[in-house]
Amino acid sequence: MDFKPEYTKEQEEFRKEVRAWVEENARYPEELGPIPLSSGDMSREMWLWGRDFQRKLGAKGWYYPTYPKEYGGGGLSGDKDIIIKEELRRVEHPVAYSMVSMAAPALLVYGTEEQKQRLLKPMLRGEMVAWQAFTEPGAGSDLASLQTRAVRDGDDFIITGEKCFIGGHHEPDVLWAPVMTDPDAPRHMNLGAFVIPANLPGISIRFQNLVIREGKRAVTFEGARVSREYLVGGETQGWRVIQSSLEIEHGGGGSVLPEDDPIVTGALEFCKKTLRNGVPLSSDPAIQKEMVDLYIEANVHRLIGMRNHWMHNNNVPGTYHGSQNSLVGKYTALRSAVKLLNALGPFALTVDPKWGALEGKVEDHQRHTLGSDHRGGTIDVQKVIIARRIGISRTRERAAPTRAQAG
Ligand SMILES: Cc1cc2nc3c(=O)[nH]c(=O)nc-3n(C[C@H](O)[C@H](O)[C@H](O)COP(=O)(O)OP(=O)(O)OC[C@H]3O[C@@H](n4cnc5c(N)ncnc54)[C@H](O)[C@@H]3O)c2cc1C
Repeated sequence: MDFKPEYTKEQEEFRKEVRAWVEENARYPEELGPIPLSSGDMSREMWLWGRDFQRKLGAKGWYYPTYPKEYGGGGLSGDKDIIIKEELRRVEHPVAYSMVSMAAPALLVYGTEEQKQRLLKPMLRGEMVAWQAFTEPGAGSDLASLQTRAVRDGDDFIITGEKCFIGGHHEPDVLWAPVMTDPDAPRHMNLGAFVIPANLPGISIRFQNLVIREGKRAVTFEGARVSREYLVGGETQGWRVIQSSLEIEHGGGGSVLPEDDPIVTGALEFCKKTLRNGVPLSSDPAIQKEMVDLYIEANVHRLIGMRNHWMHNNNVPGTYHGSQNSLVGKYTALRSAVKLLNALGPFALTVDPKWGALEGKVEDHQRHTLGSDHRGGTIDVQKVIIARRIGISRTRERAAPTRAQAG
């Protein structure tokens, strides 16, 4: 089965330009050591290199290639975005964690012109790391139950509360956070959406040691004073504003995944070259079946992501499409974990020279895929959204505006 896309001559010319730039700029100094399996183990020096590289990409307009140039993007078409992403993947380099992708669509749709210049532009140029601070101990799937409070005080808001499962390694510049501004208003009409500078007095961030590879952070706000300038949209419009972020988080913007997914390709190669009882693992029909399914499912998810990417960048309105991408991705991830173990055996989880597989990557992959059910809305939540979007639920719902509709 051939899942390869074809490219025009002009696209291949652009690829040459990108490849040359990436070859020159994405090679990181050897003295920083090998990139760790878990991004949580990334040294500060390596992270700083990643941040610097983000800025270089941003200066070229290749960090967020399809966003408008006037706000720090590249003003490029979706096909060029795909080529940039493919070329970046060819050269292994440290990536500094950031969730600008979530804050940016909301800022683009609901931010004032001044906020787009002050906040969106540095984000898209790779100069500002944003973490998404939505979830709270009492509000995950039911995000409308958020309790973190913002109390107005003159031109400022005083923020108090707790967020959990937030961010990644090292530190953010800003936190993109919905917060309750009116406790007397009904659900969905009681939130404001803020881009909160992370270094304000009254904000503390601590590590949460989870089964997933990178760990997450709990963020506590104890009377943090935030200027009104950081409120995006109206004071009680936050629910609507964050829908633009969630639309992208659920997959509405699409994804560009490689045909040769590293864990799938690694497992295929491993099965071909590893002998058990004198024959390669790949000669066993049961293992062949697991491997073929693994390859096909990964590529089906990849193509759904590409379709959404094309729709998003060509202003084709989506309905169920984002959550379909998320749902298929989550199922694919969970099933791939089972298939890998079925094919390689439980000892593949070890780094034993004879019985282990892929230098610990299988064990890492198992833990990571467990978390993928929950991050960015669970499987059940994606099903609820799809039901609402295709009209088989109690309520009918439309896709939220994102950059496609904005411009
Ligand atoms: C790896 C990882 C990364 C994350 N990163 C971030 C981040 O960067 N920023 C951030 O803000 N949050 C982040 N999260 C939090 C994530 O968004 C929440 O875990 C998620 O929204 C689910 O919330 P919860 O954990 O409170 O589970 P709950 O909402 O308590 O759900 C528990 C179970 O009940 C089911 N359930 C809940 N409601 C319904 C319903 N109505 N119908 C059917 N079933 C239902 C769920 O599907 C789930 O199986 C991350 C989580 C993980 C695991």
